[in-house]
Amino acid sequence: MVAAVCLAAVVAGCGGPGAGGAAPSAERTGASAAADRGVPRPAAAPLVLPGPARAEEEAGSEAVARKAAAARAALETAARWGLARPPLPAPPRPASRPELFAAQGVKLADGLPPVVYRVPTDERIVFLTVDDGAEKDPEFNRMAAELGIPLSTFVADYLARSDYGYFRRLAAQGDAVNNHTINHRNLKVLGYATQREEICRQQDQLEEQIGVRPRLFRPPYGEYNEDTLRAAASCGIEAVPLWNEEAFPDRVEYRYEDQRLHPGDIILTHFRGTDLWPGTMPDLLRKVVDEVTAQGFALARLDDYL
Ligand SMILES: [Zn+2]
Repeated sequence: MVAAVCLAAVVAGCGGPGAGGAAPSAERTGASAAADRGVPRPAAAPLVLPGPARAEEEAGSEAVARKAAAARAALETAARWGLARPPLPAPPRPASRPELFAAQGVKLADGLPPVVYRVPTDERIVFLTVDDGAEKDPEFNRMAAELGIPLSTFVADYLARSDYGYFRRLAAQGDAVNNHTINHRNLKVLGYATQREEICRQQDQLEEQIGVRPRLFRPPYGEYNEDTLRAAASCGIEAVPLWNEEAFPDRVEYRYEDQRLHPGDIILTHFRGTDLWPGTMPDLLRKVVDEVTAQGFALARLDDYL
């Protein structure tokens, strides 16, 4: 704003002190005294800023205008989807995935993929993960894309196989499609060989259907044992994210006593329709984003951090 005003003043030739025109009286007095002693008088400041500085000012005001237009567009998009306010932008993706260390919310064991309830970070970011795959609502994809909300999905074949095209479209817009087994059984009650089949076969299926072999796997119901982790590792899985919050269209449930989000939290929700819960997938996303924004957090992409 200030830059735009200064530029207008300079272009109009009405520059005040320091921007052309008359120099401040104290300086003039000093310069006159110097001239009286025979010292050459410094040249008067030019009326119009020299080229590079002027270009910089113009670029600056263009950047200000672009920022204002982007803010207006974000407000309009948020209003169109019924959000209380635009989501906070996530920080740039990290250049590489940060090294995981033992911390609250991280279980590390030698040779096994880490089990992560919360990603260690100081940034005010949380992650939205969407499980199973029954409801395939294209409005949900569109809303997430328009709002810039990144998703990490965990897909079970028995629910997804009726239309893998839906998940291909999610992957095409930058969302991650990860492993949630073939049949969504409680792995803890199964032997190692059956667990391995449930996980490895879904790796193969997702690679064939989506074109990417997942690195992340989430056991159904969050139930697992050491066999699960060994089997997952043997299928090429690198991390097992669980969750600290579960979101529904009308509420978010917290595992913490303070009932608040914490940096690095993983939020679980599901692809479900109005037959199973009180709202649509866009209602669900609206609830999550409003809650996350109100607590001063941005939604980032889990697969960039794990
Ligand atoms: Zn599930």
